[in-house]
Amino acid sequence: MNVLVLSDDHETVGQWRAALEHIDPQICLVREGEVPGSTIVAALVDQPVRGRLAALPHLHVLFSMMAGVDALLDDPTLPPIPLVRLVTHDTVALMREYVYYHVVRSRRRFYTIEEDQRRRRWNLGAPSSSPSSCGVSVLGLGRLGLPSAIMLRDLGYRVAGWSRTPKEVAGIRSFYGPVGLQELLPTTNILVCLLPLTIETEGLLRADLFNELPFGASIINAGRGQCLNMDDLIAALDSGQISHATLDVFPMEPLPSNSTLWSHAGVTVTPHIAAEPTPDVFVSRLSRDLRKALRGDVLTDIVDRRAGY
Ligand code: NAP
Repeated sequence: MNVLVLSDDHETVGQWRAALEHIDPQICLVREGEVPGSTIVAALVDQPVRGRLAALPHLHVLFSMMAGVDALLDDPTLPPIPLVRLVTHDTVALMREYVYYHVVRSRRRFYTIEEDQRRRRWNLGAPSSSPSSCGVSVLGLGRLGLPSAIMLRDLGYRVAGWSRTPKEVAGIRSFYGPVGLQELLPTTNILVCLLPLTIETEGLLRADLFNELPFGASIINAGRGQCLNMDDLIAALDSGQISHATLDVFPMEPLPSNSTLWSHAGVTVTPHIAAEPTPDVFVSRLSRDLRKALRGDVLTDIVDRRAGY
């Protein structure tokens, strides 16, 4: 079974090919031109593919390598077949871990201790209060946001969540829509963004939102870089309105070497590594879903093209 792979990331694709040889040797990842288009049953893509899939007559399913599909949906010629986000159990576990680590690091300001060690100075600071004194709000209660919010709840944080449609989750104050966002912000000490990029979420994290947070709140963005206005963030950090920002995603990736974010004292940057599953886990999911699609079974994690995620 030939799966067309459209990606410039040759190293990662090579790892997947090697993993598939062990897990499901009947599936071949092929490049454009390697086999006749009529033999291709699925496509695996990580970038806009404008027009490149429209001429393949036997495509059953499209797989997105990225959990964020905003760039793909920009293509009006994308075939009207299921588009699946390959979110795995590993993706979820890794994101939960990333969120937990950075929530703790932000709440207890461990980044200042890391700086003190570099400067060889001991600074006891004030004793830490318990997690229950800290309001953490998770924007996006989807495949990644909901498990992260539940984990924080179970660790004793005061957790709120925000989504597009209403949710009921025990022990988590749930809000939705623009009005819900305004209600949630004043009690938020740490804001975690796990939103997809859509017309509605682009630039959502900006000055007027920062000003509704308690003075000195922290931000963690592992959703999409374009959800956050960087100029407004720098201004909020400089004024102290935001005390610290942890950023895993950026409008331009890799983050350009001349970006202010590299050296800003209030910013921690990580290179879009919050939740990337290992090749074996990734191709296992690919193999399972491809076989399901060919049998006509129902797939999960299908993108809602109208909602844009
Ligand atoms: P998902 O399952 O599609 O969930 C998206 C969540 O966002 C849903 O709860 C949805 O609300 C909510 N949402 C969407 N538009 C909204 C709006 N206008 N207002 C309020 N809530 C809105 O996505 P996911 O798998 O959790 O992934 C989220 C994002 O994380 C991805 O799009 C990707 O960009 C990013 N990501 C980053 C990494 C990394 O390594 N940094 C890895 C994987 C993914 P409803 O529940 O009401 O639909």
